Amino acid sequence: MQKYDAIVVGAGLGGLSSACRLAKAGKKVLLMEQHNLPGGVASSFKRGRFEFETALHELAAIGAPEKRGDIYKLVNEDYGVGIEWLAIPDLFRAIHVKDDGTIIRDFTMPKGRKEFADKLEEYAPGNRKAMEQFYELFDECERALGYISSAHGSPDSKVLRSQYPNFLKAGAYTPNDVLDALKFTPSAKKIMGTYWSYMAVDMYRLSSIFYLMMVGSLIDGGAYIPRHTSHEMTVGLLERFHSFGGESWFNVRAEEILFNGDRACGVRTTRGEVYAKHIIWNGNPSMAMANMIPAEVIPERELKLANARKFSARMFVVYIGLNKSCEELGIKDYNIFISPGLDTADEYKRVGRMEKIRSTAALCYNVVNPDIGPKGTCQMSFTMAYSKDVWGDVELEDYVKFKNEKAREILELYERATGCSIIPYIEEISVATPWTFCRYASCPEGGVYGYEAAEWDNCMARMMSLSYDNNFKGLKFTGASGPRGDGYSEALITGDMMGKMVLGELAKEDM
Ligand SMILES: Cc1cc2nc3c(=O)[nH]c(=O)nc-3n(C[C@H](O)[C@H](O)[C@H](O)COP(=O)(O)OP(=O)(O)OC[C@H]3O[C@@H](n4cnc5c(N)ncnc54)[C@H](O)[C@@H]3O)c2cc1C
Repeated sequence: MQKYDAIVVGAGLGGLSSACRLAKAGKKVLLMEQHNLPGGVASSFKRGRFEFETALHELAAIGAPEKRGDIYKLVNEDYGVGIEWLAIPDLFRAIHVKDDGTIIRDFTMPKGRKEFADKLEEYAPGNRKAMEQFYELFDECERALGYISSAHGSPDSKVLRSQYPNFLKAGAYTPNDVLDALKFTPSAKKIMGTYWSYMAVDMYRLSSIFYLMMVGSLIDGGAYIPRHTSHEMTVGLLERFHSFGGESWFNVRAEEILFNGDRACGVRTTRGEVYAKHIIWNGNPSMAMANMIPAEVIPERELKLANARKFSARMFVVYIGLNKSCEELGIKDYNIFISPGLDTADEYKRVGRMEKIRSTAALCYNVVNPDIGPKGTCQMSFTMAYSKDVWGDVELEDYVKFKNEKAREILELYERATGCSIIPYIEEISVATPWTFCRYASCPEGGVYGYEAAEWDNCMARMMSLSYDNNFKGLKFTGASGPRGDGYSEALITGDMMGKMVLGELAKEDM
């Protein structure tokens, strides 16, 4: 009766990665997706003359040809997707600005260990030693996570204690504690905390491992984007999946995960029932438990875990196509973090309220990819992540007017902070709210990062308890809600890891 070795529900990055891993190993795999395209939130869309990237600002772990990173090795080399990666020149520019337009701080940080440390020293003297220790800790964390992944979530505690003691220590603390322990000065901490908004949890609650891995690998290897948007990457992964012998169904929605006793055995879909030895779910586990799984088979621990977790990063994005080039507009930076420069805990609270927009990550794609659109134009996006479900309170009849007001606020904030006029040159504009992400990718509350990687639910805890969690027999969860946390790299790595775990179980079952 079982037709497939595995069914993967959802063709987001996590689902695509799990599907490729299994199909490449010769397993019979069905990948199903409710939409007509792969990618989930990682995609592109067209408006007029422009094709807009939906999500990606930057991706770490690609690396230069002489030192390729883990994502290049996984996607380009292992899965064999021929993506052309474009390097982003600087890590970021950050502008801290008051409401009246007064600039508090304006700094640009380069990639590269030495370059970053030198620049930090220029802006905030007295941090050389701290920076060296930061790099040492990052190296140890990278090695430790590699070891834990290879041990499939059951690492030997003796090996961890003897070989990765600082990883174990750091894992129990927040980035703020770690930066204090390394003796970074207060002004250096302001700079080191800039990426917090990409992780959507403040520096007092964020997982320090998640923070160290993201910031360390960006400093080390720089950041990249694919030449032809995320769509190139996800279509490439799908093509490779097909070439490994995988089968895909698009425009098919999973409506229920079927169980035989307490073991998942198939999926009821809009195209009928299909059966498999293993199911991998790329949507949010809370959504699956609320709507797709019979209540009586949900293990108590899984339910408690899902209920205790917090959804993360409810995205608001304004995409614009301008009828002037970035040179004509005077735009030189690829990404600028604009904010009032408050303490990150205050920033986190502030983005949990529906108030006037005072922070954004503003991108201009043409700075890195001059050929992304027609000559004489440029395209930009402006993102902010809400820490609470404040968009849930917006009434349906107010929605369009409200989102347009918010779009204007974010564009005016950019103009105020940079002194660069963009609004008069907008040819196309599209606005995505948390409602949009909820509707298109079934992300609960529009949270595209799965669960907050904070406090008790940090990446180290998730990785170390891999063998205790996932108590469902025959069902695994992949993607941004998984043990490695959110983001492109994390979703892809979790996808690979879940694929390998299923391969291990299939091997035992076949013995
Ligand atoms: C604006 C924005 C900017 C971002 N910037 C960055 C960045 O710069 N760097 C970075 O690393 N990350 C970034 N991210 C985060 C990153 O995009 C996500 O963490 C990642 O893409 C999530 O992948 P996922 O595998 O969890 O799947 P998702 O994208 O959530 O996809 C899940 C898929 O499952 C499908 N699905 C769900 N339910 C069903 C069902 N019942 N039946 C069939 N199919 C179903 C959905 O349609 C969807 O295709 C950004 C995200 C956004 C929105």
